[in-house]
Order: sequence, then C-alpha cells, then structure tokens
Amino acid sequence: MFIFHLFNGRQKVIQMPAKVNNEECTGCGICVEECPATAIELKNDKAKIDTEECTDCGSCVDSCPNSAISME
Ligand code: SF4
Ligand code: SF4
Repeated sequence: MFIFHLFNGRQKVIQMPAKVNNEECTGCGICVEECPATAIELKNDKAKIDTEECTDCGSCVDSCPNSAISME
C-alpha cells in the first residue's frame, strides 16, 4: 500500500495487491500456506491471488522460492 500526501493536506491510499507471474510459478503451494489472509489458492497448478482479500502484507513475495510474486 502507498499513501500519497496531497498538497491540500489530504491523503490518498493506493492498494498494491500481490501479483503472480504464471511463467515463474511452479505451483509449489508455499505462498498458499504463508498468506495470513488466506487470499491465495492453487488453480491449474498456479497460485491465484484474490485481490479483494489481499492485505498487501508482502509475505508471499518473500516466501516464493521462484520469485514469482511481486507487488503491483
Ligand atoms: S510460492 Fe511461488 S512458485 Fe510456489 S505456488 Fe506460490 S507463486 Fe507459485
Ligand atoms: S501480500 Fe500478503 S495478503 Fe496479499 S496475497 Fe501475499 S501474503 Fe496474502
């Protein structure tokens, strides 16, 4: 998540959900176990992230052995 401080003193919050690179994902399932929001499931042997459930914590990015996940 990024928080922009606007000139008028307000803040604008931008959600940055995690994104899977299907070409790098091997379907190992490690990120599924690591996600505290249970926002990841395996579909057709690829990790799929529910962006509505994702809290942008970044745990899955660190857990993936193939560096297949990034924050959008
Ligand atoms: S940890 Fe990485 S390789 Fe394993 S299922 Fe998740 S995204 Fe795919
Ligand atoms: S960023 Fe956090 S909440 Fe979102 S999918 Fe990854 S582990 Fe789950």
